[in-house]
This record gives sequence, C-alpha cells and structure tokens, in this order.
Amino acid sequence: MSDDIVLCEKCGAEMKPLSDIYPVGMTCPNCGWGWATTYIDPINLDESDYHIILVSS
Ligand SMILES: [Zn+2]
Repeated sequence: MSDDIVLCEKCGAEMKPLSDIYPVGMTCPNCGWGWATTYIDPINLDESDYHIILVSS
C-alpha cells in the first residue's frame, strides 16, 4: 500500500501534510490547493501528565 501519497485533485502533484505531527490535513505545494480537518484529538494537544488512581469502593 502507498497510503502516504495523496495526489492533488487539481493538478495531480503529490500533496504534503500540513503537519508532520498531527493529521490535520494536506496541501499541494504546486498549486496551493488543499484541505484540512477541523478536529484534532485533544489528547494530542494536551501535554499535561495525568495520574490515575484506582480506589476500591
Ligand atoms: Zn495542486
């Protein structure tokens, strides 16, 4: 599978991800066409450390 390659719908050039970290969308370096998602999983943006404590009841 070549699932990393997305071709531009306008000019057929290989599109590049808007971000190497988050799957927020793709943009075409040739013609500027692109799309982006509006949703980023909050857990990907949250750099806090959480500690979960289980308490028996
Ligand atoms: Zn294009």
